[in-house]
Amino acid sequence: MNQIDYKEFHWMVSMINSIDAGLVVLDNDYIVESWNGFMYHHSNIDAVDAKGRNIFEIFPSLDKSWFMRKVEAVKTIQNQSFITWEQKPYIFPFKNYRPITGTVEHMYQNVTILPLPSLTGSIDQICLIIYDVTDIAANRMELQKANAQLEKLNKTDPLTQIDNRSGLEVSVNLANKHYKLQQTISSLVMLDIDHFKKINDTHGHPAGDAILKQLAKLIKETMREHDSVARYGGEEFAIILHNTSSDNASHFVERLRKLVENTKFTFEDTVIKVTISFGIAQISTKNGDNKAWMAAADQALYQAKKQGRNQGVVFESMG
Ligand code: GH3
Ligand code: MG
Ligand code: MG
Repeated sequence: MNQIDYKEFHWMVSMINSIDAGLVVLDNDYIVESWNGFMYHHSNIDAVDAKGRNIFEIFPSLDKSWFMRKVEAVKTIQNQSFITWEQKPYIFPFKNYRPITGTVEHMYQNVTILPLPSLTGSIDQICLIIYDVTDIAANRMELQKANAQLEKLNKTDPLTQIDNRSGLEVSVNLANKHYKLQQTISSLVMLDIDHFKKINDTHGHPAGDAILKQLAKLIKETMREHDSVARYGGEEFAIILHNTSSDNASHFVERLRKLVENTKFTFEDTVIKVTISFGIAQISTKNGDNKAWMAAADQALYQAKKQGRNQGVVFESMG
């Protein structure tokens, strides 16, 4: 083996010290043998103090059994191992000082554990390389948070805070999937407030809005928790009753119809009476796609309006 000359050694120490990654060498007893500038800057413990000390004593919060398992595995298979921030946000409790990601408290880290073979081939030392990936992690988490918010916003009706048409599509798709995979029967109920235009004309648009909000709340309180409700149009709502036949859906509809009829909707000091018409369609092979299922419920709703409103009509029982 070639001898490294003194000059070269000097450069290497200088490079290792100034590299923007942490370098730590540990012996078999987890005693620090080497500690670079990155480690000093972030832990405030310099190389002279760190050397000769046990790593678990320096970082009491380091998960000892987990870390030892990782290191022993590297020694056994004699191959490096990589721990990403997604598996474990950080191994060393360093503070984050980066200005862009100032809201993140800890430095997120990717860590490589490298076996260092001795001249005889045995592994008596391992090297840890610690990368600061706070910017990447913080950006990724911000993006995930924004996407989740956007998805929720996209599916939520701002007036009633229940699902909108997009949200309804998700629920209809889910019911359809369960029908196709497990033959689970669900029913779709479409409802429309009777003479809502007249209510708006008589009491004003804000009164109409207040009724929509109260109705959404009433439906939510009446249905089971795992059923879904959406506002898919101005004064039109849809309810998916999962695992429910049209017969059972009719009972639910009758209960809701009576409840609405007897509820005193209020706006400021005015009490307003409201009735609703309903169309009910059970999912079946004939209407197995979303469009046809919704069209069936819509057709039944149209029939309910035609027959005098304030009632429910089941699609199958239509002449
Ligand atoms: P029908 O019994 O046949 O359903 O009669 P209708 O008057 O309810 O039906 P129509 O479709 O003619 O009128 C619906 C009205 O709903 C018209 C529109 O002004 C009102 N509307 C739609 N969206 C909103 C809303 O967000 N707020 C309020 N206040 N009114 C709305
Ligand atoms: Mg309407
Ligand atoms: Mg209406």
